[in-house]
Amino acid sequence: MLEKTRFIKENLEEVRESMRLSCMRANREIKTVKLIAVSKTKPIFDMLKAYDFGVRDFGENKVQEILSKYDKMPKDIRWHMIGHLQRNKVKQIIDKVFLIHSVDSYALAYEIEEQAYKRDINVNVLVEVNIGNEDSKFGVSANETYELVSKIMDLEHVSVKGLMCVAPIQDDPENNRKYFRKMKAISDDINNKLGKAYLNVLSMGMTGDFEVAIEEGATMVRVGTGIFGERKRL
Ligand SMILES: *Cc1c(COP(=O)(O)O)cnc(C)c1O
Repeated sequence: MLEKTRFIKENLEEVRESMRLSCMRANREIKTVKLIAVSKTKPIFDMLKAYDFGVRDFGENKVQEILSKYDKMPKDIRWHMIGHLQRNKVKQIIDKVFLIHSVDSYALAYEIEEQAYKRDINVNVLVEVNIGNEDSKFGVSANETYELVSKIMDLEHVSVKGLMCVAPIQDDPENNRKYFRKMKAISDDINNKLGKAYLNVLSMGMTGDFEVAIEEGATMVRVGTGIFGERKRL
């Protein structure tokens, strides 16, 4: 257990140091990038270790897993829903999550609106973009993004804060630079069309490529393996 504790502590230090160096290379302030610890499949023990070392933002990709972990973790945690979200499960997590990264249809956004309206709350979301145009991935295409963002803007209880992507798996993270750059361009373009900096979150970059993502403008990076180690295949 002591070894596990040291493992997570050292991993976190390494990730944070890499984030700092990426910010320096990109002439950005470190506080403009938030680390989200992706804890899917990982036990509460590991998460509490990360919590002890200062992590407050945790990313999960399954509604059921958020629900089962929610009561076992401290109350000041910000839960990030980063996985595909089914409409019929929205009501289960709507008042528990800080940010939903994976809105990829108006139907989903509308369900979030209805559930948020019932509870008289506001829900922050990101629009997921399938930036690599992969059949295996969720998300809207680059050229559908503006339309979805502007439709969500008309919903009263949903605030669209930015964009998210899961870039293709690569051996060399440099291969994803073009996709991250494109995400930034889509976001800038939408803000230009809207006439103000409405979108200011860019959730992009994972263990394999978060450094490149930060250099290209990520404001949130989602790191799992790099903090908690490999996940068992389920
Ligand atoms: C699992 C997952 C991550 C983290 O992946 P790692 O490669 O382990 O860092 C990030 N984002 C999403 C959407 C994920 O599902």
